[in-house]
Amino acid sequence: MKAVNMAGRMLLVLVKIILVLFIGLIAYFLAEPLWNRYVVYPELEEERTRLWRSYKKPEQFIPHADFKGVLHSHTYRSHDSRGILEEIIPAAKKAKLNFIFLADHRMADLDTFPRGIHGTFEGILIESGTESPGASMMVTPLRSVVLDWAKDRSQLMHEVVKNNGMVFYLHSEDEHDWGNPDYQGMEIYNIHSDLIDEKSPLKFLINGMINSGVYRHWSYRELFDEQTKIVALWDSLNNHRRIVGMAAVDAHNNQSLRARYTKNDMVEWVGPNAKTLSVNKPGWKEKLILGKPDIAGWAFKMELDTYFHSFNFANTHIFGDSLSSRSLKNELVKGHAYISFESLAQASGFQFFTSDSSGKVNAIVGDSVQGKNAVKLSAVSPYPVRFELFRNGKLIDSQEDRYAYEFKVRDKKGNYRIVARLKFRNQWLPWVYTNPIYVF
Ligand SMILES: [Zn+2]
Repeated sequence: MKAVNMAGRMLLVLVKIILVLFIGLIAYFLAEPLWNRYVVYPELEEERTRLWRSYKKPEQFIPHADFKGVLHSHTYRSHDSRGILEEIIPAAKKAKLNFIFLADHRMADLDTFPRGIHGTFEGILIESGTESPGASMMVTPLRSVVLDWAKDRSQLMHEVVKNNGMVFYLHSEDEHDWGNPDYQGMEIYNIHSDLIDEKSPLKFLINGMINSGVYRHWSYRELFDEQTKIVALWDSLNNHRRIVGMAAVDAHNNQSLRARYTKNDMVEWVGPNAKTLSVNKPGWKEKLILGKPDIAGWAFKMELDTYFHSFNFANTHIFGDSLSSRSLKNELVKGHAYISFESLAQASGFQFFTSDSSGKVNAIVGDSVQGKNAVKLSAVSPYPVRFELFRNGKLIDSQEDRYAYEFKVRDKKGNYRIVARLKFRNQWLPWVYTNPIYVF
C-alpha cells in the first residue's frame, strides 16, 4: 500500500515539474511577443504617426526626379517562389514603388534575356535579371542575349558590362572576387543577409506569427541589424574605385504555409521556400480552414514575408530623368542613388550634394568633384534626423534633430557619405544611407 502511495506521489511531483517546465517554456516564448504587441509596438506606432506629421517637403536642389524601387526580387520563375504579377503589382503599388529589378534564380546553363517578366505594369517598371549561383550576383543585361554560365565568370561579367548591362554583387556576407574590375556595385543591405544572423530564429518566427496583424511591419523589422561589416567592406572598396551601394529585398514571399485547390479538386499544401508539402483529397481539415481562393488561387495563407512588407522594408532611390530600365541603370551605376528603410518613413525628398562658392550644386551622390570646387556639402531630409557624415568610412561629424545639414569641405579630399537616423524609443535607427560623393 505504502509503495503504491509513494509511486503515486512521485508521479504527481513529476507531472507538476513537467507542467511548470511547460508553462515556463510557453512564457519564455510568449512573454516578449505579447509585450511587443501591447506595449512596444503601440508606442512605436504612435511615434511613427507623430514623426510622419512632422513632414516638411525639402526644397529641390538635385535637378532630377527621385525614383523609388526595389532591387533583387524573385517571382515564380525562381525555384523557391510562387509569386505572380497579380500579387507583386498590388504590393508594389501599396509600397509606392516606381520600379522592380528582378533577380530570379538561374534556370539553365544557357540563360536567355529578356526571358523573364519585363515591361511597365500599372505604372510600375519591371526589369528582368538573374541571380547567379555560387558567388552570387545580379546580372541585368537589359537586352536580348544568351548568357552562358559555363563560361569563365569574369569573362561573362566583362561581356555584360561592356554591352551596357549591369552586374551587382549580391549577398555581400559571402566570398566574392572583390578585386574584379567590372562589377559596378554591391548590396550594402539585404533582408536575407540580415535574417540569417538572427541568434534566435524561432523567437523571431513566433513573434512574427503573434504580431502578424496591424504591427507586422514592426515584427518584420525585428530582424534588422546594422550591417557594419558589410558597410566597412564597401567603404574600403570605394578607396580604389566607385562601387555603388544598393539595398536588396530578396523578396520571395515564401516563408509561409499556404493551400490551394488544384484543377482536379485536390488540395496542394505549400510550405516554406515554396515547397509542395502534400497534394491530397480535401478532408475535414481543408473543409474547416480553406476559404475563398484569392487572386493567386490561395484558399489559405499564413505568411511572414509578404511582397508588400518586403517592398516597404529596404528601398533604393535613384535620381533620374525618365522611368526606363536603361535610364535607371545608367543612373544607378553612376551611384546616383541612396537606400532607405521605408517602413519607418518615406525618404523621397532626401538629397545629398555639394555646391561651389556661388552656391550652385556641382555634384550629387555618386559624383566626383574637385576639392577646390566642392566648397560645401549639404543634405536635406523631409523629417528631422541625426545626420552623420562619414569620410573614407570614418564618422567625422554628426548633428541631431535637423531637416538640413551643412559641412565645409575646406579642400579635404576623400569619399563623403551620409547616414541619416530617425529617433524611435530613444534610439537613433539608421534610415538612409547615401552613396558617397568623391572629393579629389
Ligand atoms: Zn535572391
